[in-house]
Parts: sequence; structure tokens; C-alpha cells
Amino acid sequence: MHINSKLPNVGTTIFTVMSALATEHKAVNLGQGFPDYPMSEELVALVNDVMKRGFNQYVPMQGYPPLREVLAEKIQSLYTTVVNPDTQITITPGGTYAIYTALTAVLQPGDEVIIFEPAYDSYIPNVEINGAVPVLIDLKFPDYKIDWGEVRQKLTPKTRMIMLNSPHNPTGAVLGEDDIKQLRSIVKDTNIFILSDEVYEHLVFDNVPHQSILRYPDLLERSFVCFSFGKVYHCTGWKLGYCVSAPEMMKEFRKVHQFNCFSCHTPSQVALATFIKNKDSYLSLGAFMQEKRDYFQQLMRQTKFTPLASHGSYFQLYKYDRISDEGDKDFAIRLTKEKAVATIPVSVFYKAGTDNKVIRFCFAKKKETLDAAVERLSKLNI
Ligand code: PMP
Ligand code: GLN
Repeated sequence: MHINSKLPNVGTTIFTVMSALATEHKAVNLGQGFPDYPMSEELVALVNDVMKRGFNQYVPMQGYPPLREVLAEKIQSLYTTVVNPDTQITITPGGTYAIYTALTAVLQPGDEVIIFEPAYDSYIPNVEINGAVPVLIDLKFPDYKIDWGEVRQKLTPKTRMIMLNSPHNPTGAVLGEDDIKQLRSIVKDTNIFILSDEVYEHLVFDNVPHQSILRYPDLLERSFVCFSFGKVYHCTGWKLGYCVSAPEMMKEFRKVHQFNCFSCHTPSQVALATFIKNKDSYLSLGAFMQEKRDYFQQLMRQTKFTPLASHGSYFQLYKYDRISDEGDKDFAIRLTKEKAVATIPVSVFYKAGTDNKVIRFCFAKKKETLDAAVERLSKLNI
């Protein structure tokens, strides 16, 4: 049977490719972003408990109501914005799904969507599968800041959306107050939507406040803001997240969601509705991950890799120009095969394959894992 592919230029995601290569070569896997330490035993016990107590049937399509209520309370306490849990929050099977659903709800063929590169790998295919057109803008190497002047130049009457991601994967860059000011002035009096991917909301370092769109009710009126419980509770395999938006936009989001997934895993939602009430479960996360970043950075000083700044997420980029002049894909593959350390080449996050000779390391790992990886890297002589 012939399929006229909707995504003719798409292969298998780099995360799957590098994790498979890591397994094949018994490499320490600092590539794909996931923790290798256990999640909270208390949360696991809660899920077990609610399953035994019979929470095993569908919850409403929008998500388990008490979970949406505690999320609204959390949003108010963190960002002072009041959101209505009935009309503005929907629980989704992960952040990626929330992003896809938001784009599918509003994009029409020919709409233009501003995407900053390097970009998380699902964004461009998600835009293209909806017949819309990605308008690509490079974040300025090496600190990966947004050039708002360039954004203004690339606006056209067809611009329908701007996609943001802070803290940023793969670079660890974060948006500042000035970025929000610029964004505000650009979208004011337009019909441009904002998609804000904030899955690393709590993974912000050095006491810098997270510039969530949820802080700004005037921006939330035109935004879909996407989150992932996997990142907050060290359980990426749960694939559970949520989207927050304005009521009219959320209506459209739910039209798409209800005929795709309908509703998400019940026991996890019931357990989280209780667990999230413990504010420490998320407020301690930034310091926890910052300690890992600092530990990893300090270990890496023994190597010839040169760090770029990481202000958030659980990723750190390193330049390898003092080690090799290979392209980043070749270098990352060779590092996995010959030195048994898997990473992610950053050029895969650019449609044109822009190669600044940097690779991404995930430091959400046990100390032993980071030790083992850096021991191998410090012996590099290639
Ligand atoms: N956006 C970014 C930037 C991410 O790194 C991730 C992590 N995979 C996601 C979205 C999606 O998260 P989830 O696993 O909940 O779909
Ligand atoms: N977000 C994770 C990363 O960037 C992986 C997600 C995935 O494998 N799709 O590494």
C-alpha cells in the first residue's frame, strides 16, 4: 500500500536512536532526558493505594476534578494568577501531547508559526502535520538569547503563533523579564497565539524566577501553557501533563483532546491530587537539580570539553572543539561507540542541521552515573 506521507522528511527521533545505540554499546546514557534514580516512594505507594481503593475507571475528559483544583491553587500561589479549574485546565497524556493538541486546535493550513532553534524535536513536525508553516529563528549562539528585532522582521499577516520554551531544551537558557516585555509589545493588538512549553518550570537555577506566562493574565488570554508531571516527579514514563489556557481557547483544545485520548490514567491523577498539596515536592526541585548541575560541571573540569551556561532544565551543553573537529552527529555516535558515553548532538534541533560543535548532556542522574561517564570522558584522547 502506498502512503503519501504527511511527514516525508521525518525519521526516528534522536532520543530513540541514541538510547538504542547506548544500549547496544553498553554506554552510560547521558543522552535522552530522564532521571536514572527512583521517584518518590510515597507517590508510588499512593498510586498503589488508590488503585486498590477502586480508582480504576474513566475520570472526566477534562481530568480528575480535584487534581485540576489543586493545580489552580498551585498556580495562584506561585504566580498570583487565578485560573478556573473547570474551564482553563485540562490533564493530558504528557506535555508533548498537550503541545500537539494546542497546535491542532488552532492552526489552519498556511498559518505561520515562529519557532526558535535549536527547537525541541516535536515542534516542527507538529506544525507541519497541521499544514502550517514553521518560520525559523536562531537563538543567538552561544547564550541562546532571542533576537526580538529579528522576530519583528519575520512577522507577517499570516503569523498565527509564537512558540516559546523556558527553561529551554536543549540549551538550558531561560527567558528574562525583558523577553516578556518584548513579547507583550509584539503580540499586543494582534491575533497571534502563544504556545509556552514550560515542562521544566521548576528546574530553574541560581534563584532566577521562572518567567511563566501564567504570571501575566494579559498574555494567558492568548496562550496555551504546557506542563509535564514526568519532569516534576521524576517519572517521565508516566506520560502525564496538563495544559492551561483561556476558557474559549480551552474549549477548542478539548474538542481535539476528547476524540484523541478522551481521558488520562486515573490512579496517577488521583494520587497526584493528594501529593501535590505538599509544596515541598516541587519547591525543592530547583535546588536538587542545581546541585546535580554543579556536581557535573565540577567533574567535567577534568575533561577537554568547554561548558556553555545552563540556567535551567536538566541539560548542559558542552563544546568539544578542543577534542575534535568532527560534525556533532559523528562525534556523538563515536563517543557512544568508542567511549561508551551517549549524548545528543545539538544540530538535530535545527531544521538545516546547523552545527556549532556542541553536544547535550543530561545531568538528571545518580552521582555514580555522572562519575562513570566523566571518568570515561576524561580519558578521551581522540
Ligand atoms: N517539551 C520539552 C522541551 C521537553 O523536553 C519534553 C520532555 N520530553 C516535553 C516537552 C514533553 O514532556 P512529556 O514527556 O510529558 O511529553
Ligand atoms: N525530553 C527528553 C529529551 O529531550 C526526551 C523525550 C523523548 O524521548 N521524546 O531528552
